[in-house]
This record gives sequence, structure tokens and C-alpha cells, in this order.
Amino acid sequence: MAVMTSLSEREQRAIMEFIEEVRRVHPHEPEFLQAVAEVARDVYPYELSVPEYREARILHRLTEADRIVIFRVTWRDDQGRIRVNRGYRVQMTNVLGPYKGGLRFHPSVNLSIIKFLAFEQIFKNSLTTLPLGAGKGGADFDPRGKSDAEIRRFCQAFMMELHKHIGRYIDVPAGDIGVGSKEIGYLYGMLLQLRGYEPGALTGKSPEIGGSLLRLEATGYGLIYFVEEMLRYHGEGTLEGKRIVISGAGNVALYAAEKALEKGARILTLSDSTGFIYDPDGLDEEKLAYIQKLKSRRGVSLREVCTRYRTIQFYSGKRPWSVPCDIALPCATQNEITLDDARLLVDQGCRVLAEGANMPTVPEAIEYFQEKGVLVAPGKAANAGGVAVSGLEMTQNAMRWWWSRQDIDRHLQEIMRRIHEQCIKYGQMEDGRINYVRGANIAGYDRVARAMVQMDLVLG
Ligand code: NDP
Repeated sequence: MAVMTSLSEREQRAIMEFIEEVRRVHPHEPEFLQAVAEVARDVYPYELSVPEYREARILHRLTEADRIVIFRVTWRDDQGRIRVNRGYRVQMTNVLGPYKGGLRFHPSVNLSIIKFLAFEQIFKNSLTTLPLGAGKGGADFDPRGKSDAEIRRFCQAFMMELHKHIGRYIDVPAGDIGVGSKEIGYLYGMLLQLRGYEPGALTGKSPEIGGSLLRLEATGYGLIYFVEEMLRYHGEGTLEGKRIVISGAGNVALYAAEKALEKGARILTLSDSTGFIYDPDGLDEEKLAYIQKLKSRRGVSLREVCTRYRTIQFYSGKRPWSVPCDIALPCATQNEITLDDARLLVDQGCRVLAEGANMPTVPEAIEYFQEKGVLVAPGKAANAGGVAVSGLEMTQNAMRWWWSRQDIDRHLQEIMRRIHEQCIKYGQMEDGRINYVRGANIAGYDRVARAMVQMDLVLG
């Protein structure tokens, strides 16, 4: 399916009007609008070209959440003082399955950020081809500098409200920034107390309490499998010897680094909220294992790595995009690659950009990369491995059975391969190039749209 490279004036006007309409209904939500505009550019002209979709006004419906829950979370700190935070759960659509998406605990969390993440999740979850709806949640709670006991009390207080809105067939949260398997353990412990045994209502659990093997690694590993597919398809060889710069030093970044290293790539950088490290020799297994251990302690800066390894340099308050590379993997947070960063990366030889984080690249930077012939894999395709294995965790919980690491890894590789295939199918341009962003948007949309149209037919 070849996609038109340029839009007619009528199409451009229709997109602008659509985005304006969304802006009127959702003012003051820049991240949400950014995510909608990025999807609308590809999907709205497609919707207008399919009579059933146009008539059903699919995209208008998908930009309005089924429901949004905003709640107070009251907890006590170690000094006995009452603290108050704001919790969110955005249930976007359950057309394909229970609402599904992670929980983010970070001081920057607000409604716009949770809505953008929930919106992205629609297309990502659809691309996995698993029965997963879309949602996202979190709180403006900052885990940094908090004791374990404070984190536990916060998670318990958060679940006191959240449990009213989730369930294995209703809404199944997981982790995201600031929510790892430890926090999921506290959240699930509270759910168990409130409602009894229901492992299928949360994913990202550790295997001892019903989690899936390989869930921890899934997003990072899946990202690398996706990059391998891209390289293979474009005749660019394998990862062996390729220079990779990575941002982030959390779940996604560290497991992406681990898998890329296993494939023979050279990992030159990692970053966190304090700055980035650059290793001219490339990180090896020992250094990476040390960093994994270091970063498992909350609030520790990557700067500490340099006290042990003298060849590694630390750049305070900076991002790693000035380092020459073949492949860039942004794995920290949204909007971390600006147009200036994109120029730097292209000048330094970057040929592939694959998003481990959600929306880490600003729209002008994506356009610039594409103009320069850099292959850009959007997060909704490239980081879908995490939610895919969460889907497999739900399957295992429902079967009361577990699959081996090898089984899960096989499924993960197959799912990433299928996602890549869909991007190719829907992202092939008239000149033969592949626009992965467009491919992922349209493929993700198409499955949801088909389901919505069919169900409306059933409902008459
Ligand atoms: P983690 O909390 O494990 O790690 C996040 C990393 O990014 C940390 O190193 C953190 O630094 C850094 N970081 C966070 N915010 C900022 C910021 N504003 N500026 C600079 N650095 C920052 O999160 P994950 O690895 O789970 O998530 C990373 C990204 O991947 C997010 O966009 C998330 O939505 C996305 N994602 C995650 C999935 C998952 O399965 N976990 C699935 C799909 C997408 P520090 O260590 O200093 O806090």
C-alpha cells in the first residue's frame, strides 16, 4: 500500500481544522495536542479517504477519552506530616481490550502528559495485534529522595482510589517512569488486601507474584529487535560494530544497552536527569552491570560511574546527542531531541533513530531527520515490546500457567517483527522509501477503526 508523499491543499486545510477543533476542546494541554497533531497529519487524510471511517468520525472519538479519573492521594511522610498529591487514570478506549497502559510517578505529571501517553497507547497497543485497549495514569509524586517506607505508603494510598477503576477485564495498569517492579509489588499488595487475589489486574509484577519472565527487559530488548528489522530491511547489515548513543539510564535504556551489547554494538553513552556519560571504548558487560546496580539505588547520579572507571567522562546537565554515532536511541523522556539536536546527530553521521521513550523527538526534528534520509522509528512501534509482554503476562495470569524466558523472547521477537511488517505495509511512500512514523500511525489506527465500525454495525 503506497502512501501519497504530499498532501493536497484541501487535505492540509482539513487537518488544520481538525487540530484547531481539538485545541478548542482541550486548551492548555501542549503535550496532548502535540501527540494528536502528529497522528492527525498521517491519519486524518486516510480517514477522509475511507467512507466508513469518515462517517464514523473515528479520530474525533479517539481524541476524547472514555473517561478520566483525577483523585487526591493523601499519605504520611517519615516525619509524620500529611502529604497530598494528585493521581490520574485516563481510560482512552477499550475497543480492542481492557484499558492498558502504565503508571508514571514524576513531579512533571499533569493531565496533558497523561492524556498524550494514553493517546499514543491506542496506536501502540493496536500495533501489537494483542487484545489491548489503551489507558495511562500516574501521579505528580516524586520518588527521588523518598525512603522505601514513604514509597510504600504512597503506593498504598494511590491504590486506595485506583482499585475502584481497574480489573482484569476493565483496566490493567503497569509501570512507567518512577514505577518499577518494586512499586508494582506495593500496588499489587494493596490491591490484594482490598479485593483479594487478582493478578491479572496489574502487569509488571515480579515473577514471584505472578509476573511474566522477561517483562523487565521487554521494552529495551524489543527496541533492539525492531532496530535489527529496520537494518535488515534496508540492507544495512547487523548491529555488529554499530556505534549507538542512548539517553536514559532506567528500565528501557539499560535493557536496550544490554541487548545491543549482546549483538556486538558499541554503546557509547547513557544519561539521566543529571547529565550523560560517554565511554569512548564503549561500555562492556562489566561496566553495564555496575551501572545497572548503581542506578537501582534511587536518586544516584551517573556521575558516580566515573569514580570507578576513569576512561568514562561525565557531562553535567547535558544530553548525549553531540556524540558521533550510527544509531540514536532516546530512552529517557518526551521532547528530549530538539531540532538543534537533530542537526547535530545528522552531522555526526546518525543513520537510524529509534524511540525507546514515548514522543522523545519534537515534530520539527522528526521532519528534519526524514528530509535527511535518517530512518525514524516512532515509539509507538519501537517501544511496544513492553506492553506486548504485559499482554503476555495477562494471558499467563488467565491460564494460571507461565512460559519460559525462551518462549516469551520468541513471542516478543515475533511481535516486533509483525509491528515492523505493518509499518512497511502502511508506510511505503510513492518513491519507495519507508515512512515508519506514518506506517505506525495508520496501521495502529486501522485496526481500531475496523473494530469500531464493526461494533457500530452490530449495535445498529
Ligand atoms: P525509568 O524511570 O526506569 O527511567 C527513566 C530514565 O530517564 C532515568 O534515567 C531518568 O533519570 C531519566 N529521566 C526521566 N525524566 C527525565 C528528564 N525530564 N530529563 C532527563 N532525564 C530524565 O523509566 P523507563 O525507562 O521505564 O521509561 C523511559 C521512557 O520509556 C518513558 O518515556 C516511558 O514512557 C517509556 N516507556 C517505558 C516502558 C516500560 O516498559 N518501562 C514501555 C514503553 C515506553 P534519573 O535516573 O535521574 O531519574
